[in-house]
Amino acid sequence: MSVSFALSQERDLSVDEIKDLQREVRKLAEEKNAVILAHYYQRPEVQDVADFIGDSLELSRRAAETDADIIVFCGVRFMCETAKILNPTRKVLHPNPESGCPMADMVTAEQVRMLRQKHPDAVFVAYINTTADVKAEVDVCVTSANAPKIIKKLDAKKIVFLPDQALGGWIARQVPEKEFILWKGFCPPHFEFTAGEVMRLKERYPDAKVAVHPECHPKVIELADFVGSTSQIVRYATTVDAKRVIVITEVGLKYTLQKKNPEKEYIFPESMNYCGTVYCCTMKGITLPKVYETLRREINEVVLPEDIMERARRPIERMLQLS
Ligand code: SF4
Repeated sequence: MSVSFALSQERDLSVDEIKDLQREVRKLAEEKNAVILAHYYQRPEVQDVADFIGDSLELSRRAAETDADIIVFCGVRFMCETAKILNPTRKVLHPNPESGCPMADMVTAEQVRMLRQKHPDAVFVAYINTTADVKAEVDVCVTSANAPKIIKKLDAKKIVFLPDQALGGWIARQVPEKEFILWKGFCPPHFEFTAGEVMRLKERYPDAKVAVHPECHPKVIELADFVGSTSQIVRYATTVDAKRVIVITEVGLKYTLQKKNPEKEYIFPESMNYCGTVYCCTMKGITLPKVYETLRREINEVVLPEDIMERARRPIERMLQLS
């Protein structure tokens, strides 16, 4: 069956259209020896065509190991850049080049260079949610899954952590022997969850456990039974001894949780964020028609300058070794 969609004017697709398009995407992936990687926050219909679904760390590993000719990365821009840096001979395609991460854009390479001059004795640690230009300026990268473990191992007393102040503060509380200087960036969707909203959910569901992503505000983190990365939340929420789990992270994760353990009830906050939605709007900028069209025409290739790739690879590889 051939599929034809008005891709410039995306509209809601019917169930049959989605199924047809998913079949076409998988057929193209096989013909072109392409691997499709999708972040947990992607739309369900996009997750369903992926070879692998995961968080930043899991997908970085998959990207580094794959021998596919093409990597279609369904996530935000810094994730595609990381895939290209780790596997530069592959063609990496990003179904929506407009989908960046607002938090990653809160710090620039120039700002990192200036901070280096102020703190020449510090080790610079960047969350993986940074641009390739910023990664090229730092000593090591971390994800929310491995940050405390890696930072404990670093042979330095003073740590500059960027860009996420919430994640940085959570790490600092677990590594009290080190001094932290935190950049004041934040993840708009996570930082906008409030302690009041979590308290209301706890009152409404007193039997529920609370799992929180460390990009949330410290007052929200204080209310958690469990704090962890997206993949750690998946393990906790699907196996914890409780019928209900209040999950304070991006709502796209609900799909994975329900698939992994449909016996439990997963409750997500319903507050609107900076773009007037309950989800991360840049993550949801990847749509199934965009995945299809990107792979069919092999467009939206991620291209980075050689010297940036070379310099950005070192902190990422150091992270993979240390974790
Ligand atoms: S959820 Fe936050 S950190 Fe993730 S892409 Fe969206 S803005 Fe960036």
